[in-house]
This record gives sequence, C-alpha cells and structure tokens, in this order.
Amino acid sequence: MDCIHITSDLISCKSITPANDGAIEKIEKILKGFGFTCKILEFGRGSLKVKNLYAYLKYGEGPNICFAGHTDVVPPGNIKQWKTDPFLSTIKNGYLFGRGASDMKGAIGAYIEACLNLIKYKKKFNGTLSFLITGDEEGEANYGTKKVINWLIKKKIKLDFCLVGEPTNPSFLGEMAKIGRRGSLNGVLNVHGKQGHVAYPERAKNPIQNLLKYCGKLKEPLDKGNDFFQASNLEITSIDVGNQVTNLIPSEALVRFNVRFNNNFTSKSLVSLLKKRINTVGRNYNLEIKVSGESFYNPSEKLSKSLTSAIYKVLKLKPKMSTSGGTSDARFISNICPVIEFGLVGNTMHQVNENVKISDIKKLSKIYFEFLKNIFL
Ligand SMILES: [Zn+2]
Repeated sequence: MDCIHITSDLISCKSITPANDGAIEKIEKILKGFGFTCKILEFGRGSLKVKNLYAYLKYGEGPNICFAGHTDVVPPGNIKQWKTDPFLSTIKNGYLFGRGASDMKGAIGAYIEACLNLIKYKKKFNGTLSFLITGDEEGEANYGTKKVINWLIKKKIKLDFCLVGEPTNPSFLGEMAKIGRRGSLNGVLNVHGKQGHVAYPERAKNPIQNLLKYCGKLKEPLDKGNDFFQASNLEITSIDVGNQVTNLIPSEALVRFNVRFNNNFTSKSLVSLLKKRINTVGRNYNLEIKVSGESFYNPSEKLSKSLTSAIYKVLKLKPKMSTSGGTSDARFISNICPVIEFGLVGNTMHQVNENVKISDIKKLSKIYFEFLKNIFL
C-alpha cells in the first residue's frame, strides 16, 4: 500500500468532474483498514449527486489536522494527443502519466502513505488525523468542500489545521507553497440610456458616453498590495452594446469585469468602493455582482513552520510562500481553520499527457510525514 499504488489505483477511476467512478470508496476502504471512521457525504440533487468523504482517526485530545483534496479531474481533452491511456496510470522513464497524476491524485496517495507511516511510527500520536476529500472541485464546486464545511459546523467537528494538496509548485518540488489566495468577484454593469434616432441626439441619451466614464472609474487603482499579496486588480473583460445598426442610439450598454482582490478588501468593502467611484459619474445604472470567493491569509505560524521545516528536511529547499494564482477549495476551509497548500509540480495539470515524477510523489510523502510529526510530536 504505497503512494505510487494508491495514486495509480485512483487514476484508474474515470472521475471526470463531478463523476466519482469508485474513487472515494477506494480511499474509504484503505482508511477503514487502518482504523479510520469514514463518513461518505452525498450532496446535490437528482442526477447531480456528488460524493464526498470525511474520515478521521482520533488518538487523544491534541489538534485535528485535516488533509483536504479532490478526486475529480478535468476531462482528458483530445484523446489522440495522449501518448498513454489517461485513465490507466503508466510509468515511463521515471514519470507517472495519467489524468489527475498532478492535480491531485498523486498528493492524495502521498498523504495517505504519510498517515499510515505515522500510525506505524508512533501508534499513539496525540490528536486527530482527518481527511476531507471531495468529488466536486474542478467544476461548479457547489456540492463539494463548501457543503462538507457546513456539515462539519453543524456536527460541531472542529478542525485545527488544514493542508490542501493542490499542485502548488510551478516547476520543481519545494518551489512554492500557498499561504493565502486572492478573492475573486465578477461584475456586470448595465448603463441605462434612452434609445433614439442618431439624427436627433437631443431626444435620446446615449449610454456609451457614460459607459466610457464608468470604465475609467472602474480602472482606477484599488491598492498597492501588501507584504503578502500583490495589488488588487480589476480587469474589464467585455464591453457590449449589441447594436447592429448605425442610425440608432442604443438604450443600454454593458461592461463585464472581474476583480482579483487581496486581503485589504472584503468583497463587501470592495463593492462599496466601486459604487462610490462610479456614482460620481451618475446613478443611471444597474450593477450585478457575483462573488466567487473571499481572499484569505493563513495566520498560523505553527502551520507554516511545520510545513517549511518539513520541506527543508527532505529537499534542503526553502519554498516561496505565495498567495498568487486562482482560487481553490482552501477558500471554503479558511472560514473554519488556518489552511496552507502544498502538493506536486503543476506544470502539466489540466493538459494532455499530465504527469509527475515518481520520485516527487515519494518525496512529497516524506514531506507530509515530517509535517505531521512537526504538528503532533
Ligand atoms: Zn486541483
């Protein structure tokens, strides 16, 4: 039962998001064999039912350290471009190929092996080992980690620390861990005008003039960033009028934008700043906002140090502690406990011929083992 076998076994499940194809049950079976209590949690309705797993092994009143990850994968893409079967793990020249090898079945294999080693190494560590595995991360993520967190809160189950096994390293193992993430929100600004004939502009109100002013206000700098985060940024992604003719002043115009914001803002404070700015142009608009996730930053030094010293012990490398990149399920977990992210190398994730170095999975397992020792012992 080593990390490579577990990874290969999971890759053989065709768990294209949000399908499961037995992946969650495979993990359940291994963990049960080592005395874990496992709870399979199904959320969603009708044909869209998603399987999740919360498993734990308690040895005393010490901290509950949770490993979070996902068994679902993105579709393989163009099968003809794959040199191997994406759902049959194949080992070639020291690399393991297969969909999910890097994102993130390899990290799950590494973490399970690390836990089993800890159990063997010291039968009675003081605390709780737990797993939060979801089958709904790569898609909408409505019935995955978000729902499991609500379930944990309802059941009064407390997590003290969480490690998410996303592939955080851009090009080599030990390069980067994530100690926070920027928040993300999408906005649609609908600027109202009055439709009319271009020959009689005095009888109409062209929303395009104001739209340009609104865009200028939206693009004013948000902040300068801070020690942990780059500056927040608003990106205009589309301007739509949809007017097919030249003799008509349109009645409305749309601006779509996305903001990636750091922890200087909450989505609420950010929206109120944006509104304040655009209100100086006028109030003849409608603004729709959809928040994908708040920004967060891991405040626990114990968690950061436990990970960095484990990485140093195994690789003699000091990882960059970063908050860059997109959102991940860590955003949901950060609502209940400090969370850090570290996994395999992600340079082929979501691509055809996704692969990881076999030696990296083994080294990651050692890093996770040292990390657990640092937390518990
Ligand atoms: Zn992932």
